[in-house]
Amino acid sequence: MAKGCTHRRRIAPLLAGLIIALSVAATAASPEVADFALENPAPGVYVHYGQQAEMSRANRGDIANLGFVVGSRCVAVIDTGGTYAVGHALREAIRGVTAAPICYVINTHGHPDHVFGNPAFAQDRPEFVGHVRLADALQRRGPNYLNALKRDLGDAADQSGIVPPTRSVASTDELDLGGRMLTLRAWKTAHTDNDLTVFDQTSGTLWLGDLLFVGHVPVVDGSLRGFLAAIDEIKTVRASLAIPGHGRALGWPEAIAPEERYLKRLRDDVRAAIKAKRTLAETLGSGDAGCEQWLLCDQFQRRNVSAAYAELEWE
Ligand SMILES: [Zn+2]
Repeated sequence: MAKGCTHRRRIAPLLAGLIIALSVAATAASPEVADFALENPAPGVYVHYGQQAEMSRANRGDIANLGFVVGSRCVAVIDTGGTYAVGHALREAIRGVTAAPICYVINTHGHPDHVFGNPAFAQDRPEFVGHVRLADALQRRGPNYLNALKRDLGDAADQSGIVPPTRSVASTDELDLGGRMLTLRAWKTAHTDNDLTVFDQTSGTLWLGDLLFVGHVPVVDGSLRGFLAAIDEIKTVRASLAIPGHGRALGWPEAIAPEERYLKRLRDDVRAAIKAKRTLAETLGSGDAGCEQWLLCDQFQRRNVSAAYAELEWE
């Protein structure tokens, strides 16, 4: 604990310098990411908050939360961003904090905004860690995601790529960073079919990837019923701070209450529509009930309703 606190005192001026240095670099060369800010919510825990937006050339795919945990032996990275440029900025930020080797790069799931920065860490020769189904998900969908990234971002997508896991988690696993253990847990199909959470035992910080959305509308790309079942279980984890895949970190388990309400309403509304024999088109046309207070509702609500309809229609 004392070590972490000392570390934190040293970090503020270091970070201020780092942010300036990165901004200057960004004007000189591509691909760099300007103003890659880090926050340090607990000793040895660092978070970069991505923008609440869809991926674009302007944001270079910097839309998901990323971070790292520092032990006495080495560093574990948690998600790497939507492009090589973002992963590279994260790596530079780590180097501004510690010279300890990067021994693990953990991907919370296979969505492009969380994994395409992986190649920026290849030189560190870390273990790339993911859910047991991550490799398959990347193989099935990665090439299409990468093509879309190149199409939409042009040269801002340069060097982005697919790096499959070298270490797979089927149920739980522990990573030793030196005096600091991370507990990994693989979940049944929920946000995707390859969701992995990371719990830092030292600080009580729980990294949820996209099992937790804050502000950004929750997205269902796996199973709505599975998502709600996972939430039921994950709420019982005794953590103090929750870091979502999108949006600000909050106390736990209260952080997940709005998402749970949203998903339950989605389930209940779509079930009612199916029971009333409304078609998918009619259901989609009946408004965005329960979505208005979320960011990116227009981009994701119809996809969520379609996914829920396809799943619940066969109950
Ligand atoms: Zn996701």
